Amino acid sequence: MPACLGAAAGEHARMSAALSCPVCKRPVAIDPEHQPATFPFCSARCRIVDLGAWASGSYVVPGRPVVGEGAEDVNGRDHA
Ligand SMILES: [Zn+2]
Repeated sequence: MPACLGAAAGEHARMSAALSCPVCKRPVAIDPEHQPATFPFCSARCRIVDLGAWASGSYVVPGRPVVGEGAEDVNGRDHA
């Protein structure tokens, strides 16, 4: 019987106004009155973890490496 499914859906509806913490995936309240100062993180700890990840280079910004931008071109033209 789907009775239990209905109950689960009701509980999920209460949790709908929440965002997952980018670090630990715990639900973070979006309610402005209960929104943590560390938003969108669930806690200061997760915020620090995320900042640490940035500092350590875990998040690499997509882009070409600077090496090879024109050096190869110069070498190629040397004998052209
Ligand atoms: Zn978290």
